[in-house]
Amino acid sequence: MMEHPMTKTLIEKYGETRLPRYTSYPTAPVFSPKVGPTECAEWINAVPSEESTSLYLHIPFCRSMCWYCGCHTTISERDQPILDYLDVLQREIASVGEARQDKLNVGEIHFGGGTPTIVKPEEFIALMGVLSSNFAIGPAARIAVEIDPRTLTVEMAEALGQTGVTRASLGVQSFDPVVQKAINRIQSEETTAATVGSLRANGINAINFDLIYGLPFQDVRSCIDTVERAIKMRPDRFAVFGYAHVPGFKKHQRLIDENALAGAYERNQQAEAISETLVSAGYKQIGLDHFALPEDDLATASINGRLHRNFQGYTTDECRALIGFGASSIGRFAQGYVQNEVPLGLYARRIADGGLATAKGYALTSEDRLRADVIERLMCDFGADLEQIAASHGFDPTLLWDGNTRLAELIDDGVATLEAGKLLVSERSRFMIRAVASAFDAYFENAGRGFSKAA
Ligand code: SF4
Repeated sequence: MMEHPMTKTLIEKYGETRLPRYTSYPTAPVFSPKVGPTECAEWINAVPSEESTSLYLHIPFCRSMCWYCGCHTTISERDQPILDYLDVLQREIASVGEARQDKLNVGEIHFGGGTPTIVKPEEFIALMGVLSSNFAIGPAARIAVEIDPRTLTVEMAEALGQTGVTRASLGVQSFDPVVQKAINRIQSEETTAATVGSLRANGINAINFDLIYGLPFQDVRSCIDTVERAIKMRPDRFAVFGYAHVPGFKKHQRLIDENALAGAYERNQQAEAISETLVSAGYKQIGLDHFALPEDDLATASINGRLHRNFQGYTTDECRALIGFGASSIGRFAQGYVQNEVPLGLYARRIADGGLATAKGYALTSEDRLRADVIERLMCDFGADLEQIAASHGFDPTLLWDGNTRLAELIDDGVATLEAGKLLVSERSRFMIRAVASAFDAYFENAGRGFSKAA
Protein backbone atom coordinates (compact mmCIF):
# COMPACT_ATOMS: atom_id res chain seq x y z
CA MET A 1 0.00 0.00 0.00
CA MET A 2 1.22 3.50 -0.82
CA GLU A 3 1.94 5.73 2.13
CA HIS A 4 -0.74 8.42 2.47
CA PRO A 5 0.97 11.69 1.56
CA MET A 6 -0.90 13.67 4.18
CA THR A 7 1.10 14.18 7.32
CA LYS A 8 0.33 12.08 10.34
CA THR A 9 -0.22 15.28 12.33
CA LEU A 10 -2.96 16.48 10.01
CA ILE A 11 -4.76 13.15 10.03
CA GLU A 12 -4.64 13.05 13.81
CA LYS A 13 -5.73 16.68 14.09
CA TYR A 14 -8.87 16.31 11.97
CA GLY A 15 -9.36 12.57 12.43
CA GLU A 16 -9.76 12.96 16.19
CA THR A 17 -12.42 15.64 15.79
CA ARG A 18 -15.97 14.45 16.31
CA LEU A 19 -17.89 15.29 13.16
CA PRO A 20 -21.31 14.57 11.65
CA ARG A 21 -21.61 12.35 8.57
CA TYR A 22 -23.81 15.03 7.00
CA THR A 23 -26.55 12.77 5.77
CA SER A 24 -28.74 15.83 6.40
CA TYR A 25 -28.27 19.51 7.12
CA PRO A 26 -28.94 20.62 9.73
CA THR A 27 -28.07 17.34 11.46
CA ALA A 28 -30.47 15.45 13.73
CA PRO A 29 -29.17 16.87 17.07
CA VAL A 30 -30.55 20.25 15.99
CA PHE A 31 -34.12 18.88 15.65
CA SER A 32 -36.53 20.06 18.35
CA PRO A 33 -40.13 19.45 19.51
CA LYS A 34 -41.08 22.85 18.07
CA VAL A 35 -41.86 20.86 14.92
CA GLY A 36 -44.40 18.12 15.52
CA PRO A 37 -47.32 16.19 13.98
CA THR A 38 -49.13 19.35 12.80
CA GLU A 39 -46.19 20.49 10.67
CA CYS A 40 -45.59 16.94 9.45
CA ALA A 41 -49.23 16.61 8.27
CA GLU A 42 -49.06 20.01 6.55
CA TRP A 43 -45.81 19.14 4.81
CA ILE A 44 -47.11 15.76 3.62
CA ASN A 45 -50.19 17.45 2.21
CA ALA A 46 -48.07 20.07 0.45
CA VAL A 47 -46.07 17.50 -1.57
CA PRO A 48 -47.02 18.25 -5.21
CA SER A 49 -49.07 15.44 -6.78
CA GLU A 50 -46.86 15.31 -9.86
CA GLU A 51 -43.67 14.75 -7.83
CA SER A 52 -42.20 11.36 -7.11
CA THR A 53 -41.78 10.62 -3.40
CA SER A 54 -39.44 8.35 -1.43
CA LEU A 55 -40.54 6.17 1.45
CA TYR A 56 -38.43 4.84 4.31
CA LEU A 57 -39.67 2.06 6.61
CA HIS A 58 -37.81 1.24 9.81
CA ILE A 59 -37.98 -2.25 11.31
CA PRO A 60 -36.22 -1.86 14.67
CA PHE A 61 -35.70 -5.50 15.68
CA CYS A 62 -32.77 -7.91 15.57
CA ARG A 63 -32.22 -11.41 16.98
CA SER A 64 -28.89 -10.58 18.66
CA MET A 65 -26.86 -7.44 19.33
CA CYS A 66 -23.73 -6.65 17.33
CA TRP A 67 -21.61 -4.71 19.80
CA TYR A 68 -20.55 -2.07 17.26
CA CYS A 69 -24.18 -1.29 16.35
CA GLY A 70 -25.14 2.38 16.08
CA CYS A 71 -28.72 1.80 14.86
CA HIS A 72 -32.05 2.18 16.64
CA THR A 73 -32.91 -1.45 17.29
CA THR A 74 -34.30 -3.80 19.94
CA ILE A 75 -33.25 -7.39 20.50
CA SER A 76 -36.19 -9.79 20.47
CA GLU A 77 -36.11 -13.56 20.40
CA ARG A 78 -39.92 -13.60 20.31
CA ASP A 79 -42.04 -12.84 17.25
CA GLN A 80 -44.98 -11.20 19.06
CA PRO A 81 -43.35 -7.77 19.62
CA ILE A 82 -42.49 -7.71 15.91
CA LEU A 83 -46.06 -8.61 14.91
CA ASP A 84 -47.42 -5.90 17.23
CA TYR A 85 -45.03 -3.38 15.68
CA LEU A 86 -46.08 -4.36 12.15
CA ASP A 87 -49.70 -3.67 13.09
CA VAL A 88 -48.80 -0.16 14.23
CA LEU A 89 -46.62 0.43 11.16
CA GLN A 90 -49.49 -0.54 8.84
CA ARG A 91 -51.83 1.83 10.68
CA GLU A 92 -49.30 4.62 10.32
CA ILE A 93 -49.00 4.01 6.55
CA ALA A 94 -52.79 3.95 6.20
CA SER A 95 -53.24 7.18 8.17
CA VAL A 96 -50.69 9.01 5.99
CA GLY A 97 -52.32 7.56 2.87
CA GLU A 98 -55.79 8.65 4.04
CA ALA A 99 -54.57 12.16 4.84
CA ARG A 100 -53.94 12.78 1.14
CA GLN A 101 -56.73 13.29 -1.39
CA ASP A 102 -54.62 11.58 -4.04
CA LYS A 103 -52.17 8.68 -4.00
CA LEU A 104 -48.61 9.99 -4.00
CA ASN A 105 -46.34 8.54 -6.68
CA VAL A 106 -43.50 6.58 -5.15
CA GLY A 107 -40.11 6.40 -6.87
CA GLU A 108 -38.02 4.82 -4.11
CA ILE A 109 -38.69 2.65 -1.07
CA HIS A 110 -36.04 1.74 1.47
CA PHE A 111 -36.49 -0.81 4.26
CA GLY A 112 -33.93 -0.26 7.01
CA GLY A 113 -33.37 -1.39 10.54
CA GLY A 114 -32.67 -3.23 12.65
CA THR A 115 -33.22 -6.20 10.42
CA PRO A 116 -36.13 -5.67 7.99
CA THR A 117 -36.01 -9.32 6.92
CA ILE A 118 -36.70 -10.44 10.50
CA VAL A 119 -40.38 -10.41 9.48
CA LYS A 120 -41.88 -13.54 7.91
CA PRO A 121 -42.28 -13.66 4.10
CA GLU A 122 -46.07 -13.40 4.31
CA GLU A 123 -45.75 -10.41 6.64
CA PHE A 124 -43.42 -8.63 4.21
CA ILE A 125 -45.83 -9.33 1.32
CA ALA A 126 -48.70 -7.93 3.44
CA LEU A 127 -46.68 -4.81 4.27
CA MET A 128 -45.97 -4.22 0.57
CA GLY A 129 -49.72 -4.67 -0.03
CA VAL A 130 -50.54 -1.91 2.48
CA LEU A 131 -48.02 0.38 0.79
CA SER A 132 -49.57 -0.34 -2.62
CA SER A 133 -53.07 0.41 -1.30
CA ASN A 134 -51.97 3.82 -0.05
CA PHE A 135 -49.41 4.93 -2.63
CA ALA A 136 -49.00 4.67 -6.40
CA ILE A 137 -46.00 2.38 -6.73
CA GLY A 138 -45.16 1.99 -10.40
CA PRO A 139 -43.13 -0.82 -11.98
CA ALA A 140 -40.09 1.50 -12.21
CA ALA A 141 -40.00 2.09 -8.44
CA ARG A 142 -36.72 1.11 -6.86
CA ILE A 143 -37.12 -0.91 -3.70
CA ALA A 144 -34.12 -1.54 -1.45
CA VAL A 145 -33.90 -3.76 1.63
CA GLU A 146 -31.16 -4.05 4.26
CA ILE A 147 -30.31 -7.69 4.88
CA ASP A 148 -28.61 -9.63 7.65
CA PRO A 149 -27.18 -12.67 5.82
CA ARG A 150 -27.13 -14.66 9.07
CA THR A 151 -30.92 -14.80 9.21
CA LEU A 152 -32.17 -14.51 5.61
CA THR A 153 -34.16 -17.61 4.61
CA VAL A 154 -34.66 -18.91 1.07
CA GLU A 155 -38.41 -18.23 1.48
CA MET A 156 -37.72 -14.63 2.41
CA ALA A 157 -35.44 -14.17 -0.62
CA GLU A 158 -38.31 -15.50 -2.78
CA ALA A 159 -40.76 -13.05 -1.16
CA LEU A 160 -38.38 -10.15 -1.81
CA GLY A 161 -38.12 -11.14 -5.48
CA GLN A 162 -41.91 -11.59 -5.78
CA THR A 163 -42.67 -8.15 -4.35
CA GLY A 164 -40.36 -6.35 -6.77
CA VAL A 165 -37.38 -5.62 -4.52
CA THR A 166 -34.58 -4.33 -6.76
CA ARG A 167 -31.63 -3.82 -4.38
CA ALA A 168 -30.30 -5.67 -1.35
CA SER A 169 -27.80 -4.18 1.06
CA LEU A 170 -25.94 -6.85 3.02
CA GLY A 171 -24.20 -6.29 6.33
CA VAL A 172 -20.80 -7.96 5.96
CA GLN A 173 -18.43 -5.75 8.04
CA SER A 174 -15.41 -8.10 8.32
CA PHE A 175 -14.64 -11.72 7.50
CA ASP A 176 -11.85 -11.82 10.11
CA PRO A 177 -12.87 -14.38 12.80
CA VAL A 178 -10.97 -12.50 15.54
CA VAL A 179 -12.79 -9.28 14.68
CA GLN A 180 -16.14 -11.08 14.37
CA LYS A 181 -15.74 -12.53 17.88
CA ALA A 182 -14.80 -9.09 19.28
CA ILE A 183 -17.98 -7.51 17.84
CA ASN A 184 -20.33 -10.42 18.60
CA ARG A 185 -21.20 -11.01 14.96
CA ILE A 186 -20.17 -14.40 13.61
CA GLN A 187 -20.92 -14.61 9.89
CA SER A 188 -19.00 -16.96 7.64
CA GLU A 189 -17.98 -16.16 4.10
CA GLU A 190 -20.14 -19.12 2.97
CA THR A 191 -23.23 -17.60 4.64
CA THR A 192 -22.69 -14.30 2.80
CA ALA A 193 -22.04 -16.08 -0.53
CA ALA A 194 -25.17 -18.22 -0.10
CA THR A 195 -27.26 -15.10 0.58
CA VAL A 196 -25.92 -13.40 -2.55
CA GLY A 197 -26.71 -16.54 -4.58
CA SER A 198 -30.22 -16.75 -3.16
CA LEU A 199 -30.97 -13.08 -3.90
CA ARG A 200 -29.63 -13.31 -7.44
CA ALA A 201 -31.65 -16.48 -8.04
CA ASN A 202 -34.73 -14.40 -7.22
CA GLY A 203 -33.89 -11.60 -9.62
CA ILE A 204 -32.33 -9.22 -7.11
CA ASN A 205 -29.12 -8.42 -8.91
CA ALA A 206 -28.27 -5.02 -7.43
CA ILE A 207 -26.24 -5.96 -4.37
CA ASN A 208 -24.45 -3.72 -1.88
CA PHE A 209 -22.01 -4.86 0.82
CA ASP A 210 -21.46 -2.81 3.97
CA LEU A 211 -17.92 -3.06 5.34
CA ILE A 212 -16.48 -1.44 8.47
CA TYR A 213 -12.92 -0.47 9.37
CA GLY A 214 -11.63 0.62 12.77
CA LEU A 215 -13.27 -2.36 14.52
CA PRO A 216 -11.45 -3.99 17.46
CA PHE A 217 -8.38 -6.03 16.41
CA GLN A 218 -8.73 -4.89 12.78
CA ASP A 219 -5.54 -3.99 10.98
CA VAL A 220 -4.63 -3.18 7.40
CA ARG A 221 -3.96 -6.82 6.48
CA SER A 222 -7.29 -7.93 7.93
CA CYS A 223 -9.14 -5.20 5.99
CA ILE A 224 -7.49 -6.12 2.69
CA ASP A 225 -8.21 -9.81 3.26
CA THR A 226 -11.93 -9.10 3.85
CA VAL A 227 -12.16 -6.93 0.74
CA GLU A 228 -10.40 -9.50 -1.44
CA ARG A 229 -12.81 -12.19 -0.32
CA ALA A 230 -15.83 -9.90 -0.75
CA ILE A 231 -14.78 -8.85 -4.28
CA LYS A 232 -15.03 -12.48 -5.41
CA MET A 233 -18.81 -12.21 -4.91
CA ARG A 234 -18.83 -9.13 -7.19
CA PRO A 235 -21.41 -6.92 -5.48
CA ASP A 236 -22.25 -3.79 -7.51
CA ARG A 237 -21.54 -1.49 -4.61
CA PHE A 238 -19.64 -1.27 -1.36
CA ALA A 239 -20.33 1.17 1.47
CA VAL A 240 -17.29 1.42 3.74
CA PHE A 241 -17.75 3.03 7.14
CA GLY A 242 -15.41 3.80 10.00
CA TYR A 243 -16.58 2.26 13.28
CA ALA A 244 -18.12 5.01 15.43
CA HIS A 245 -17.25 4.31 19.06
CA VAL A 246 -19.70 6.31 21.18
CA PRO A 247 -20.26 4.17 24.30
CA GLY A 248 -21.78 7.16 26.10
CA PHE A 249 -24.69 7.01 23.62
CA LYS A 250 -24.70 3.29 22.76
CA LYS A 251 -24.20 1.40 26.01
CA HIS A 252 -23.63 -2.03 24.39
CA GLN A 253 -20.47 -0.58 22.79
CA ARG A 254 -18.92 -0.76 26.29
CA LEU A 255 -18.56 -4.49 25.58
CA ILE A 256 -15.96 -3.58 22.96
CA ASP A 257 -12.36 -3.66 24.15
CA GLU A 258 -11.21 -0.05 23.73
CA ASN A 259 -7.57 -1.15 23.90
CA ALA A 260 -8.10 -3.12 20.69
CA LEU A 261 -9.28 -0.05 18.74
CA ALA A 262 -6.93 1.65 16.28
CA GLY A 263 -6.02 5.34 16.49
CA ALA A 264 -6.84 7.93 13.83
CA TYR A 265 -3.72 7.33 11.73
CA GLU A 266 -4.12 3.55 11.69
CA ARG A 267 -7.84 3.92 10.87
CA ASN A 268 -6.87 6.12 7.95
CA GLN A 269 -4.42 3.46 6.77
CA GLN A 270 -7.21 0.86 6.92
CA ALA A 271 -9.61 3.08 4.95
CA GLU A 272 -6.90 3.76 2.35
CA ALA A 273 -6.09 0.06 2.04
CA ILE A 274 -9.75 -0.82 1.46
CA SER A 275 -10.11 1.97 -1.09
CA GLU A 276 -6.97 0.97 -3.01
CA THR A 277 -8.00 -2.69 -3.10
CA LEU A 278 -11.47 -1.86 -4.41
CA VAL A 279 -10.23 0.63 -6.99
CA SER A 280 -7.62 -1.90 -8.21
CA ALA A 281 -10.46 -4.39 -8.67
CA GLY A 282 -12.34 -1.97 -10.97
CA TYR A 283 -14.66 -0.18 -8.52
CA LYS A 284 -15.04 3.62 -8.74
CA GLN A 285 -14.86 5.59 -5.51
CA ILE A 286 -18.08 7.54 -4.97
CA GLY A 287 -17.97 10.40 -2.51
CA LEU A 288 -16.34 9.71 0.81
CA ASP A 289 -17.13 6.09 1.47
CA HIS A 290 -19.00 4.34 -1.36
CA PHE A 291 -17.62 2.31 -4.25
CA ALA A 292 -19.49 1.11 -7.34
CA LEU A 293 -18.81 -0.82 -10.52
CA PRO A 294 -18.47 1.64 -13.45
CA GLU A 295 -21.82 0.63 -15.00
CA ASP A 296 -23.73 1.14 -11.71
CA ASP A 297 -26.02 4.19 -11.70
CA LEU A 298 -24.26 5.56 -8.60
CA ALA A 299 -21.03 5.77 -10.63
CA THR A 300 -22.84 7.45 -13.53
CA ALA A 301 -24.54 9.95 -11.20
CA SER A 302 -21.19 10.77 -9.65
CA ILE A 303 -19.65 11.57 -13.05
CA ASN A 304 -22.68 13.68 -14.06
CA GLY A 305 -22.75 15.72 -10.82
CA ARG A 306 -26.13 14.16 -9.92
CA LEU A 307 -25.08 12.33 -6.81
CA HIS A 308 -27.11 13.04 -3.69
CA ARG A 309 -26.84 12.32 -0.03
CA ASN A 310 -29.63 11.14 2.25
CA PHE A 311 -29.97 9.25 5.52
CA GLN A 312 -28.77 6.02 3.88
CA GLY A 313 -25.61 7.70 2.52
CA TYR A 314 -24.90 8.39 -1.16
CA THR A 315 -27.84 7.91 -3.50
CA THR A 316 -29.19 8.60 -6.97
CA ASP A 317 -32.59 9.35 -5.40
CA GLU A 318 -33.77 12.75 -6.68
CA CYS A 319 -37.13 12.80 -4.87
CA ARG A 320 -37.48 15.98 -2.82
CA ALA A 321 -39.86 14.46 -0.29
CA LEU A 322 -39.06 11.46 1.87
CA ILE A 323 -41.74 10.07 4.19
CA GLY A 324 -40.43 8.02 7.10
CA PHE A 325 -42.52 5.28 8.72
CA GLY A 326 -41.74 3.48 11.95
CA ALA A 327 -40.09 4.33 15.24
CA SER A 328 -37.16 6.79 14.90
CA SER A 329 -37.71 7.29 11.14
CA ILE A 330 -36.74 10.63 9.69
CA GLY A 331 -38.70 12.33 6.92
CA ARG A 332 -37.55 15.17 4.71
CA PHE A 333 -39.70 17.76 2.94
CA ALA A 334 -39.09 21.02 1.11
CA GLN A 335 -40.08 22.76 4.36
CA GLY A 336 -37.88 20.78 6.76
CA TYR A 337 -37.26 17.51 8.62
CA VAL A 338 -39.40 15.42 10.94
CA GLN A 339 -38.46 12.49 13.16
CA ASN A 340 -40.79 9.93 14.72
CA GLU A 341 -40.69 8.93 18.37
CA VAL A 342 -37.73 6.62 19.04
CA PRO A 343 -39.05 4.49 21.96
CA LEU A 344 -41.33 1.76 20.58
CA GLY A 345 -44.00 2.31 23.28
CA LEU A 346 -44.26 6.05 22.63
CA TYR A 347 -44.34 5.52 18.87
CA ALA A 348 -47.16 2.95 19.21
CA ARG A 349 -49.13 5.18 21.58
CA ARG A 350 -49.01 8.15 19.20
CA ILE A 351 -50.34 6.03 16.36
CA ALA A 352 -52.97 4.37 18.61
CA ASP A 353 -54.18 7.87 19.52
CA GLY A 354 -54.96 8.41 15.85
CA GLY A 355 -52.24 10.98 15.08
CA LEU A 356 -48.83 10.95 13.49
CA ALA A 357 -45.81 9.83 15.55
CA THR A 358 -43.66 12.92 14.93
CA ALA A 359 -41.63 13.73 18.05
CA LYS A 360 -39.41 16.49 16.72
CA GLY A 361 -38.14 18.14 13.59
CA TYR A 362 -36.74 21.24 12.06
CA ALA A 363 -38.19 23.97 9.80
CA LEU A 364 -35.58 25.11 7.27
CA THR A 365 -34.68 28.77 6.83
CA SER A 366 -33.46 30.06 3.48
CA GLU A 367 -29.90 30.22 4.86
CA ASP A 368 -30.18 26.57 5.98
CA ARG A 369 -31.11 25.63 2.39
CA LEU A 370 -28.06 27.46 1.07
CA ARG A 371 -25.75 25.74 3.59
CA ALA A 372 -27.42 22.36 2.96
CA ASP A 373 -26.71 22.74 -0.76
CA VAL A 374 -23.05 23.66 -0.18
CA ILE A 375 -22.55 20.74 2.22
CA GLU A 376 -24.27 18.23 -0.09
CA ARG A 377 -22.11 19.28 -3.07
CA LEU A 378 -18.96 19.08 -0.94
CA MET A 379 -19.83 15.63 0.38
CA CYS A 380 -20.70 14.40 -3.14
CA ASP A 381 -18.21 16.24 -5.39
CA PHE A 382 -15.34 17.26 -3.04
CA GLY A 383 -15.76 20.80 -4.26
CA ALA A 384 -18.45 23.46 -4.55
CA ASP A 385 -18.95 26.57 -6.61
CA LEU A 386 -19.83 28.74 -3.63
CA GLU A 387 -20.56 31.82 -5.76
CA GLN A 388 -22.94 29.98 -8.04
CA ILE A 389 -24.73 28.18 -5.19
CA ALA A 390 -25.09 31.41 -3.18
CA ALA A 391 -26.47 33.22 -6.26
CA SER A 392 -29.02 30.45 -6.86
CA HIS A 393 -30.29 30.99 -3.29
CA GLY A 394 -30.21 34.80 -3.53
CA PHE A 395 -27.35 35.22 -1.03
CA ASP A 396 -24.10 37.17 -1.09
CA PRO A 397 -21.41 34.44 -1.30
CA THR A 398 -19.11 36.24 1.15
CA LEU A 399 -21.52 35.04 3.86
CA LEU A 400 -19.93 31.63 3.34
CA TRP A 401 -16.28 32.63 3.82
CA ASP A 402 -16.00 36.05 5.50
CA GLY A 403 -15.00 35.48 9.14
CA ASN A 404 -15.15 31.69 8.66
CA THR A 405 -12.21 30.74 10.90
CA ARG A 406 -12.73 26.98 10.51
CA LEU A 407 -12.50 27.34 6.72
CA ALA A 408 -9.44 29.60 7.00
CA GLU A 409 -7.69 26.99 9.16
CA LEU A 410 -8.45 24.21 6.65
CA ILE A 411 -7.10 26.37 3.81
CA ASP A 412 -3.98 27.19 5.88
CA ASP A 413 -3.47 23.47 6.49
CA GLY A 414 -3.63 22.80 2.73
CA VAL A 415 -6.80 20.74 3.00
CA ALA A 416 -8.82 22.99 0.67
CA THR A 417 -8.34 25.90 -1.73
CA LEU A 418 -10.71 28.79 -2.42
CA GLU A 419 -10.23 30.57 -5.73
CA ALA A 420 -12.71 32.75 -7.63
CA GLY A 421 -15.50 31.63 -5.33
CA LYS A 422 -14.83 27.93 -5.97
CA LEU A 423 -13.87 25.70 -3.08
CA LEU A 424 -11.86 22.62 -3.94
CA VAL A 425 -10.74 19.80 -1.68
CA SER A 426 -7.60 18.14 -2.99
CA GLU A 427 -7.51 14.45 -3.85
CA ARG A 428 -5.16 13.72 -0.94
CA SER A 429 -7.50 15.50 1.50
CA ARG A 430 -10.71 13.63 0.59
CA PHE A 431 -10.50 11.97 3.97
CA MET A 432 -11.05 15.38 5.59
CA ILE A 433 -14.28 16.19 3.74
CA ARG A 434 -16.45 16.05 6.87
CA ALA A 435 -14.17 18.66 8.46
CA VAL A 436 -14.54 20.88 5.37
CA ALA A 437 -18.33 20.43 5.39
CA SER A 438 -18.44 21.34 9.08
CA ALA A 439 -16.89 24.73 8.24
CA PHE A 440 -20.26 25.60 6.63
CA ASP A 441 -22.38 24.15 9.43
CA ALA A 442 -23.79 27.10 11.36
CA TYR A 443 -24.78 24.81 14.26
CA PHE A 444 -21.60 22.79 14.48
CA GLU A 445 -20.14 24.24 17.68
CA ASN A 446 -23.35 23.43 19.55
CA ALA A 447 -24.14 20.11 17.95
CA GLY A 448 -20.80 18.37 17.67
CA ARG A 449 -20.41 16.41 20.91
CA GLY A 450 -22.31 13.24 20.02
CA PHE A 451 -20.79 12.59 16.63
CA SER A 452 -18.24 9.98 15.65
CA LYS A 453 -14.63 10.67 14.82
CA ALA A 454 -13.97 11.63 11.22
CA ALA A 455 -11.23 9.05 10.67
S1 SF4 B 1 -27.90 -6.62 12.64
FE1 SF4 B 1 -27.50 -4.44 12.21
S2 SF4 B 1 -29.08 -3.32 13.34
FE2 SF4 B 1 -29.03 -5.41 14.16
S3 SF4 B 1 -27.68 -5.29 15.95
FE3 SF4 B 1 -26.42 -5.94 14.19
S4 SF4 B 1 -25.63 -3.99 13.34
FE4 SF4 B 1 -27.32 -3.46 14.70
